[in-house]
Amino acid sequence: MSYIKIRNLNFSYKDDEGNPESVLRDLSLDIKKGEYVAVLGHNGSGKSTLAKLLNLVIDDYDYFEGSIEIDGVEISSSDMTEDDIYELRKKVGMVFQNPDNQIVATIVEEDVAFGPENLGLPREEIRRRVDEALATVGMTEYSRHEPHRLSGGQKQRIAIAGIIAMRPECIIFDESTAMLDPMGRREVVDTMEKLNREEGKTIITITHYMDEAVRADRVVVIDDGRIILDGKPSEIFAEADKLRACGLDLPQCSDLVLRLRSRGIKIDGEINTPEECAEAIYKAFKKS
Ligand code: ADP
Repeated sequence: MSYIKIRNLNFSYKDDEGNPESVLRDLSLDIKKGEYVAVLGHNGSGKSTLAKLLNLVIDDYDYFEGSIEIDGVEISSSDMTEDDIYELRKKVGMVFQNPDNQIVATIVEEDVAFGPENLGLPREEIRRRVDEALATVGMTEYSRHEPHRLSGGQKQRIAIAGIIAMRPECIIFDESTAMLDPMGRREVVDTMEKLNREEGKTIITITHYMDEAVRADRVVVIDDGRIILDGKPSEIFAEADKLRACGLDLPQCSDLVLRLRSRGIKIDGEINTPEECAEAIYKAFKKS
């Protein structure tokens, strides 16, 4: 059964003159509980709009048609109450691009406690959740620090801890690594992977970094508001021409393997990560 079930979604914003600007076109998608899905697409293809619709954070639009069900609940109906939306956001958390916009307190642990406090939980439960969340993102030793003194990657991990402390089943990362340096990106992607592999969270990550997408179990490519590819990373990155046609690059490893194969070098198997790439090239040259 799908955890997220989207059917025939058509969505338009209003442009500056108030005319409809179509962004998602007849988009259908199913995501199972526990999946780790990367959503790719060039700028303006509609990825962020899709993510925001899953958390009902868009209220000014021109047209919305189709259905979105999360965990069996239709969230796109107009009779969603404030309480329903609140319940939805407990189940599906979102981490945004800019960590500075997501941090609300002046001490790390108070920031992480903000969500659980709003849930009205008892003090000991809040303490337990904050400690667990900080441990999960590897930031326990910073619990009494001031967030604004941390690096971008550390701040983003604090924002993630704040979401985890609400115990969501699914976390959507909307370009959450876009403002980070390579080290910060690695910290955040390692955290996503851990949340999926060790805690069974459903992870949806919107990114334009191909090297992040290869780490997911499944890649969905959106172009001009439509899904044009959906499959395992190795299947998606074998479609070099289609990806390039919609303005996307290949991950470095896939590109290298394709170039070597096109020169007649026999490299077997699915190559996604630098480690697999190194191993495959080593084997290919050892044989020859
Ligand atoms: P992506 O995340 O793939 O870059 P977005 O979903 O952010 O794409 O944007 C898709 C299109 O919708 C773009 O053309 C963008 O300019 C437009 N858009 C995004 N947000 C709004 C908004 N709040 N009002 C009007 N148009 C918007």
